[in-house]
Amino acid sequence: MAAPQPQQGVLCAGCPHRGAYLAAKYATRGVRGHVLCGDVGCPAVGYLYPAAATCPGGMERLLPRYHQEVPTEPTAPLCVHFARDTALDNDAGAASLSAEALSREGQTAVLAVLASSAARVTQAELEDLGQRLLGLGYETVVIVDPLDTERAERTLRDCFAAGGTSAVIFASPCTLLMKERLEPAEVDRFTCVGCHRCWQVTGCPALSFAPPAYRIDSDQCAGCDLCVGTCRTQIIYTPRLRMTPEERNTLRYQALRS
Ligand code: SF4
Ligand code: SF4
Repeated sequence: MAAPQPQQGVLCAGCPHRGAYLAAKYATRGVRGHVLCGDVGCPAVGYLYPAAATCPGGMERLLPRYHQEVPTEPTAPLCVHFARDTALDNDAGAASLSAEALSREGQTAVLAVLASSAARVTQAELEDLGQRLLGLGYETVVIVDPLDTERAERTLRDCFAAGGTSAVIFASPCTLLMKERLEPAEVDRFTCVGCHRCWQVTGCPALSFAPPAYRIDSDQCAGCDLCVGTCRTQIIYTPRLRMTPEERNTLRYQALRS
């Protein structure tokens, strides 16, 4: 049988999954033998740098590309397993993501639940999801905003330090569900040095290089502000500069209901 060919795809501008992948990438930096895996294409590959932009279209297409297999024995010292929140909605899916199942994937294992679906847009729904994970045997369940990259990375590191199995719910709504667009970020094209870092780290399709500088397509930008912190010359400006990460998260959920 011919080997499946990888396909390229792009996560939407402002996709909150991108923040979760980046946090996992940063948190596992320097951890020898760690494994990051997932149930569908983009969650499985999104953490890869600079492949935060790509989705090969499913696990069977992904694995030959990266020469990596999802472990069946806890041989890896550390495993982060990405799954969509909807994967926990049926009993079979939930059983395959139980703490017992995860414990077979790594000596320390973290279930990273990407909670961005229409079924998880209120605090009560997120807390219900947390209860479901506790019922699946996880001793620790933490809810964190994936676009608050520093806190998300710190949360993962805390889980690694605690050992065993834990679950992190990355809670931020899918941009496609938003009824109102947040104001876009903007690059100061006169001071951009064209280093490409913003694009290499985020892979956001709203960013493009128009030599000698980058620009943000204001029609595409979803105002997630992920690229803002990646610019070392600090010339990506956001209208939400003075907001706390919590206020930005609230704004995204409000954009669903307005
Ligand atoms: S703020 Fe930056 S990363 Fe987020 S959607 Fe806009 S251009 Fe993309
Ligand atoms: S990271 Fe900043 S300086 Fe570098 S290309 Fe992007 S906007 Fe320009």
